[in-house]
Amino acid sequence: MDLQLLDDTLAARGEPALRAQQVWEWTSRGAASYEEMTNLPADLRAVLAEHVPFSSLTLQHEAHAKDGTIKALFSTVDGRAVEAVLMRYNDGRRSLCVSSQSGCPLTCTFCATGTMKFGRNLTASEILDQALHFRRIEEVDHCVFMGMGEPMMNLDHVLAACERLPSIGITNRRTAISTVGWIPGIERLTESELPIRLALSLHAPDEALRSQIMPVNDRYPLADVLRACRDFYERKRRKVFIEYVMLDGVNDGYAQALQLAELLEPWIYKVNLIPYNPTESIYDGSSRGAIDAFRQVLEDHGIDATVRLTRGRDIDAACGQLAARASAA
Ligand code: SAH
Repeated sequence: MDLQLLDDTLAARGEPALRAQQVWEWTSRGAASYEEMTNLPADLRAVLAEHVPFSSLTLQHEAHAKDGTIKALFSTVDGRAVEAVLMRYNDGRRSLCVSSQSGCPLTCTFCATGTMKFGRNLTASEILDQALHFRRIEEVDHCVFMGMGEPMMNLDHVLAACERLPSIGITNRRTAISTVGWIPGIERLTESELPIRLALSLHAPDEALRSQIMPVNDRYPLADVLRACRDFYERKRRKVFIEYVMLDGVNDGYAQALQLAELLEPWIYKVNLIPYNPTESIYDGSSRGAIDAFRQVLEDHGIDATVRLTRGRDIDAACGQLAARASAA
């Protein structure tokens, strides 16, 4: 729902200020239409239905994986692709993965989104509407900005969305922003009062390999990025998650595991090794054996490391995969 348009429409009609709050209360608790908002006058409900589209996004496609994962592909009013995923875990956790941009201006070589044309930053309402779509299906409690785009390049809108996520059921402590290492954004998150988690997509333990996999490393080199992460930890006292996508024969060797262990302070970081979701790229994913061996080296050096559960593989749930296919079709 375009919350600015909602405010403007209510103001133009001279409605009392509490109306916007009433609408948001219903919406954030999973209402499916204005019709359900029975404490609003019927004529106002009709006006809103006509002038303020209930969602700023139109659902184009929804895929359901055998493991319960749901991936939604939306389009914005100006026809931009947006995708989001709901992951369901056995312990009851319901975690959303949302997009901050349509496409991405960065060109990480393994990422499907990086091969799409960059569209634009999403508004706070477009980010919230991804969460609301899934909230209408069931209650949700975690959110990661690991869908399309670089959230730190759209931080105003991302933070504005984060301020409203708690009313949907997702506290800031259960929200994580994932970044390629966009330093100005990391610094702003460090300054922010919101207790949002930071996740860093690292993917290589040295500057040369990292620049090859992620060209953004030339602009913000690894050493400077890790300094910014250390400052985040000093200020917030919350561990930083490291994401490390496992690419066969590229970044998954024994020497690289050792190098990574030396790079990271064990009290600041927790490593998440990500099995590669194959896309149309030059890479293959590492074998399960290689991933386990890599994890063991990290653990032996005191670094907390887990292998990320793969969700929704049968529905192309990796970042950008659905939208890339839709835009190629
Ligand atoms: N731009 C931000 C957030 C979006 S990507 C960032 O890069 O952190 C979220 C995560 O998905 C990143 O760690 C990215 O490296 C990972 N990813 C992208 N494509 C993938 C794929 N095909 N398989 C597994 N992980 C992938």
